[in-house]
Amino acid sequence: MAGRPSKIVCVGRNYALHAAELGNTVPREPLIFLKPPSSVIPSGAPVRVPPDAGRVDFEGEIGLVMGRSCRRVSESDAWSFVGAVVAANDVTARDLQRTDGQWTRAKGMDTFCPVGQPVDAASVDPATLSLATRVNGRQRQRASADEMAFSPQRIVSFASHMMTLEEGDLVLTGTPDGIGPLSPGDRVTVELSCGSVVTNPVEAGDPITPRGTRGPPSG
Ligand code: MG
Repeated sequence: MAGRPSKIVCVGRNYALHAAELGNTVPREPLIFLKPPSSVIPSGAPVRVPPDAGRVDFEGEIGLVMGRSCRRVSESDAWSFVGAVVAANDVTARDLQRTDGQWTRAKGMDTFCPVGQPVDAASVDPATLSLATRVNGRQRQRASADEMAFSPQRIVSFASHMMTLEEGDLVLTGTPDGIGPLSPGDRVTVELSCGSVVTNPVEAGDPITPRGTRGPPSG
């Protein structure tokens, strides 16, 4: 991916079977959250799992890189503002996602957004895109974009009515069912039918709890 996005706009619970596997339902409108640009790594770089983060999961996703800035774009025009399609992994600290309630810490850690090489969006029909996720060579997720509750164009349009999407911004369209934990020593790959692939080794990272600060403040 060329350059760093100004933001990463993500959608939660966009596939009914994935929402159900975590005890949720598909929302009435796209459920939007952000990952920080500092979480992005390229294919080949290690995903680092902190020892004190609890369970950390892979989430294979179809990613979009905005080719042009847009604001309040219609669903029918949305694809013309997408510059490229990328394989992406919305790595998630599942236990922290549950305990924190909001998702910044669980989704925002360094290395938690592997992104594959861009494929020109003009050569891609978003309706026929599909993704597969493999861990250590074994397939764990497989789904096609037509299983999404909200299409890529709908997501771009929806997000652009709240915030300007800048050239280079990344949009992650949600993960299908089949998510599962990663451990140091694993190798995780997300591959899209358009040809973008991201594959990353998993390594042990540094603790996220600052030394001497575990537990509520005393005083
Ligand atoms: Mg996700």
